[in-house]
Amino acid sequence: MTDLHRLSIRELAEGLSQAKFSSRELTEHYLQRIAKLDSQVKSYVTVTPEQALREANAADAALKAGNATALTGIPLAHKDIFCTKGIKTSAGSKILDNFISPYDATVVEKTKAAGLVTLGKVNMDEFAMGSTSESSYVGATSNPWALDHVPGGSSGGSAAAVAADLAPFATGTDTGGSIRQPASFCGLTGLKPTYGRVSRFGIIAYASSLDQAGPMARSAEDCAYLMNVIAGHDAKDSTSVKKEVDDYVANLNGTSVKGLRIGIPKQYFNVAGLNADVKARVEESLKKLEEMGATLVEIDLNMTEAYVPTYYLIAPAEASSNLSRYDGVRYGYRCENPADLMDLYKRSRSEGFGPEVQRRILIGTYALSAGYYDAYYVKAQKVRRLIQQDFLKAFENVDVIAAPSAPTTAYKIGANLSPTEMYLGDIYTLAVNLAGLPAINAPVGFDKDSLPVGLQLIGNYWSESQLLSIVHQYQQNTDWHTKRAAIAEENA
Ligand code: GLN
Repeated sequence: MTDLHRLSIRELAEGLSQAKFSSRELTEHYLQRIAKLDSQVKSYVTVTPEQALREANAADAALKAGNATALTGIPLAHKDIFCTKGIKTSAGSKILDNFISPYDATVVEKTKAAGLVTLGKVNMDEFAMGSTSESSYVGATSNPWALDHVPGGSSGGSAAAVAADLAPFATGTDTGGSIRQPASFCGLTGLKPTYGRVSRFGIIAYASSLDQAGPMARSAEDCAYLMNVIAGHDAKDSTSVKKEVDDYVANLNGTSVKGLRIGIPKQYFNVAGLNADVKARVEESLKKLEEMGATLVEIDLNMTEAYVPTYYLIAPAEASSNLSRYDGVRYGYRCENPADLMDLYKRSRSEGFGPEVQRRILIGTYALSAGYYDAYYVKAQKVRRLIQQDFLKAFENVDVIAAPSAPTTAYKIGANLSPTEMYLGDIYTLAVNLAGLPAINAPVGFDKDSLPVGLQLIGNYWSESQLLSIVHQYQQNTDWHTKRAAIAEENA
């Protein structure tokens, strides 16, 4: 079979359970595609064929024995920020280039327990800091839609692998947009769950009060299957919430678009850098939802201008604290011939961290230092609360809020945006993390250069099911999510 990579997760599950093909065949098919095509996309940091084939054989045995789960035997890729036992986990950083994790992240453990097959680890911005995946120490990943463009970031490897049909779906993490923006740049569906919905245990920490893991896939339906596996409370993560998990697949038609009230924030559509094609495609998608029975309601989100400065204070502050553990002593990169302990710390960190990570450690350390703490960090936390209240007020009148996921489509590789230009590109995604809300990206068409455009829908706390359901119904009525990049059409 040459077209296994065309099948959705539901179709793969059906095919496996009806023994139309085996997990071994499916896994080999994907491994062959990676071997043939990933030299162009560069989405994988580590491919794990031996483990994948071993897991595929075990999956086939489970399928035969009749003790398979809904997803047993389906392959996936993990962002290289999830600790994977026995496999290198580098988070895109030279400082962790030699780090073989002694344990699995809870998300990884859950995908293994569900019988999913790990194809490998995919590229990302160093420590998830960035919006292009170019800051990875192994180099840039390409956008499957235009190989000289970035896939977005920080989960750019996850997005590129799925968009090039080098994995049926993938895990990502989102601290300020890292699932939604690459999903937008690569024409995928990606869900950032409510803070606390998915365990952060074993995910290399960037900014702990903002980090959250989620699925990246070709459709809302495919995302729902992965959410069913990864969502839920975990005693090992004190911020994960003890709350019943929905059956995201069963609920795909559970929310009616008819009568749905969609908030359109005035401020969002007047942002200076909003590209005209992006604006047009997002407005067309909203029109479609209106035709399907939704009502568009203009709303105010008055704190919009505060998003970028607030996030770019809190995230680096938390990062500077989280990254203090990398000191060259117990694991990770260590400089050659340190003169003394201070020299060991200094050189291991200066040589091990890339420039963007160093910038954020400097900003964060400054913001947390005595004398500046109240003026910067405490102030940012107060503004964060106001941003959250802005959303809660809006949700008194609307069910979901619509926005672009990013003001532009994918940038060219090497465009070399200044840090502030790059940070401004995160305007539409940051507030969701600051408030801890769930949000989803759905592909809604292309710009004049045939690069994908994404619509973002932001929901109230714990509304993952509704978001997936709304996008699922949109996708039943449109075909943007079925479009494939040219490279995905190639057979291995
Ligand atoms: N681009 C944002 C940043 O650099 C968000 C990254 C993320 O969500 N991990 O911080």
